Amino acid sequence: MKNTRSEKRVTITIDGKPYQAAEGRNLVDAAKEAGVFIPSLCYFKHLDPPLGTCRACTCKVNGRNVPACMQRVEEGMAVEVNTPELIDIRKALVEMMFAEGNHFCPSCVKSGNCDLQHMGYELGITHMRFPHLFRDRHTDYQSRRMVLENNRCIKCRRCVEEVFTDQGKRVFMYQNRGIETLVGIDHEQEALLTEAQAEAAMNLCPTGAIVVRGKRVAKPFGLRSFDQQSEQEDYGIRWSANGDRSPREKKMVATVSLAGCFGCHMSLLDIDEEILDLVDLVEFHKSPLTDIKRFTQRCDLGIVEGGCCNTENIETLREFRENCDILVAVGECAIWGGLPAMRNTIPLGECLEEAFINAQTNDEGEGRVPYHEDLPKLLNRVYACNEIVKIDYLIPGCPPSASHLWKVIRNILWGEEFSVLYHEFKYD
Ligand code: SF4
Ligand code: SF4
Repeated sequence: MKNTRSEKRVTITIDGKPYQAAEGRNLVDAAKEAGVFIPSLCYFKHLDPPLGTCRACTCKVNGRNVPACMQRVEEGMAVEVNTPELIDIRKALVEMMFAEGNHFCPSCVKSGNCDLQHMGYELGITHMRFPHLFRDRHTDYQSRRMVLENNRCIKCRRCVEEVFTDQGKRVFMYQNRGIETLVGIDHEQEALLTEAQAEAAMNLCPTGAIVVRGKRVAKPFGLRSFDQQSEQEDYGIRWSANGDRSPREKKMVATVSLAGCFGCHMSLLDIDEEILDLVDLVEFHKSPLTDIKRFTQRCDLGIVEGGCCNTENIETLREFRENCDILVAVGECAIWGGLPAMRNTIPLGECLEEAFINAQTNDEGEGRVPYHEDLPKLLNRVYACNEIVKIDYLIPGCPPSASHLWKVIRNILWGEEFSVLYHEFKYD
C-alpha cells in the first residue's frame, strides 16, 4: 500500500488542545511534532504500512481505542493520549510483554540498549500486575553465528519484514499460530548474510531476542543507549506523598536477604556520607548489618531482599511479617523472583541433576544431590514475597540505587515527597 501524503495542514485536537498537522501524517509522528509523547515498540517511519503489532501506542481517536501508529491525521480528529485510563492501558500492554516472556535483564546482552527495557522506564513500570508465565520456548542455537531466544521475543515482526539476503530471501519467519507463535530462522539464508547484515538484524530487534555470538554490546554502564536518556522531558516517576511531615522520631528497621545476592543490601549502604544522617533517623534491629539474629521488639519497617526458594525463606518471611508494621520488598528478586527465578522454567529435578550430578567439576560417578534433614528443603519454584505474605510496598530495581531506596523509605516512614530520576531507576 503506497502512502500518498498531502502537505495540506489540518486541525486536530490532542487531549483537548488544538494542533496543526500535515494531513495524512502518521499520528505517532504528528503527536511528536506537537510535543506529545506516544510510546511505541514497533513503529518505524520507513516501514509502510506500519507493523501495528505491539499496541503500546494505544490512544483514543474520535472516542475509540486504536493503535496510533495505524492512524493517519485527518481534519477534526479528536485524539486522547494522556488520560489515566489510556496511560494504564499502555502500561498494562507493556507489562504483559514482560510477564509473558522471560526477561532477566541483568543477564541479557541487550540490557541498556533494549527498546523494551527502555519503554518500561518511560512508562514508569515498577512491577507487573500479571503473573509471570515462565514459559520455556525454543531457543535456536543452530546457526553458526546467531542465537534466537524466543523467550525474549515480543513478536513485533520487524525481523520478518526487514531482514533479507542480497538475493532478496527472507531470513526470519513466523511459525505456529496464536500464543504458540514463534520466530524461526532459515539457517541456509542466515549463513548468506554478511557480518554487517547479521549485526544489523541484532540491532533492529527491539529486545535481546536476536543475538550475534561474540557481538556483545561493549559500551560500559552509563554510556549505553538508554542509560541517561528519556524521551520525555521532565521525566520522573512521581510518587505521591501524604504531605504529613510527622516528627522524625527514630524508627526501628529490620532487614533480611532471602534468595537474593545481597546486592540490595550493598545498595542500601551505598549512600556515602548520608549514612551519618541515617544513623540519626533509623536504628537497625534484626539484620545482617547488625548480626542480630532474633526479633526482641517490634519494628517499624522490615526490608526484604530476595524471593523464596526454600522452606527457611518462607519461615523467615512470615516472621518478618509478624514483627514489622510495614513490610517492603526491595529489588526484582523479592518482587517477582528475579534471577533465581530463571530456574522456574526448568523442573527442580533437572536443576539438581545439572548442578550436582552432571556438574563438570565432579569426578566421574561422584556426583550426588546433597541431603541432610537440617538443610532447608528447596521449593518447586522460586516465589515472589507477595505470593507468601502481604507486602505493603515494592521498591523495584536490580538493585534499586541507594538514592532511590532511601527516597522511598523516607517517604514511607515520614511522608517526604520525592521523585525518582530516570537514571536512578535501573534494572541492571
Ligand atoms: S534487556 Fe530487554 S530483552 Fe533483555 S531481558 Fe531485559 S527487557 Fe528482555
Ligand atoms: S525476534 Fe526481535 S525483531 Fe523479531 S519479532 Fe521477535 S522481537 Fe521482533
